[in-house]
Amino acid sequence: MMNEAGKRQTPPYLSCIVPVFNEGEVITSFIPALVNQLKAVTDCFEVIVVDDGSTDNTLARVMPFCENLPVKLIGLSRNFGKEAALTAGIDACEGEAVLLIDADFQHPLAMIPVFLDYWQQGYDMVYGVRKDRKGESFLKKKGADSFYRIMGYGTGVNVPANAGDFRLMSRNVVNALKALPERGRFMKGIYAWVGFNSIGVPFDVQERRAGQTGWSYRKLTSLALSGITSFTTVPLRVVGILGLTISVVSVLYAFFIIFTTLFLGTDEAGWPSIVTAITFIGGVQLLSLGVLGEYIAGIFNEVKQRPTYLVDKRFGFEKEHNDIPAH
Ligand code: UDP
Ligand code: MG
Repeated sequence: MMNEAGKRQTPPYLSCIVPVFNEGEVITSFIPALVNQLKAVTDCFEVIVVDDGSTDNTLARVMPFCENLPVKLIGLSRNFGKEAALTAGIDACEGEAVLLIDADFQHPLAMIPVFLDYWQQGYDMVYGVRKDRKGESFLKKKGADSFYRIMGYGTGVNVPANAGDFRLMSRNVVNALKALPERGRFMKGIYAWVGFNSIGVPFDVQERRAGQTGWSYRKLTSLALSGITSFTTVPLRVVGILGLTISVVSVLYAFFIIFTTLFLGTDEAGWPSIVTAITFIGGVQLLSLGVLGEYIAGIFNEVKQRPTYLVDKRFGFEKEHNDIPAH
């Protein structure tokens, strides 16, 4: 409920979505810690753990929590990636406010009351912004940097730098996310695209408590590429401009050749410049085809209309949220 000043008066029914992939080591301490923190801020909540096709004992370790805590578990049929796991949680949750949080303690639980505070002030989306990226490799930092620059340049919307999936959203935002039909769920772009009254809150990323990151450089690069090609047409424009530049230069060069032939006589030598021109133009053509290919692959994946994820198991959903008191 909002009052006239746009403030929300009571704490919300809060859904907390936790995507997990091979987090067996850390999940048994994370769930109780999360539940304790949630109890301190609201009377009514649900925790939805989405197991993203873990190959360790994560699923078995989460199941007991479904019996005596307001914890629900969705097991996907294989590893679909974090974005798909979050989408599965978002589709299943019922809360008035929805929190997305990682299972590895990197997102500090102490930020939850701060996020809720902003929510009560009337914000629809409260997102965590990493204060710095210390502990990350030079390559990862530089990669992230250029990624945000291209995104900022190429999209009409502002994709905030260093803001990830750690965020609290109101039901309005969640419904808007659910209404977007695209299969390629590039969440960073989607959050920014839906808009609403948003605010970023700086936080310190914690060390991962146990286990290891599920993001390899390969996965990160592919995420960044799909982000850029699903949200911007910058690469298409770049190859267009490149093609135009090369055409202009070659026309100028043609004039130059005509001029030298007419006034200075023919110059028979010159095969190195021909070979260079041929290989250069060949390279540019293949590059342009590759860029077009990325977009066609995007279209191909969308027209197949496959679901973003497949659910294999569900636990704890039979209980109504009023059945189990949070305290
Ligand atoms: N995760 C997931 N599916 C994946 C990779 C990761 O559900 O394919 C989960 C993971 O269990 C964790 C969260 O997403 O709860 C963030 O992953 P991670 O810590 O590996 O990423 P990082 O913190 O390094 O960005
Ligand atoms: Mg992590």
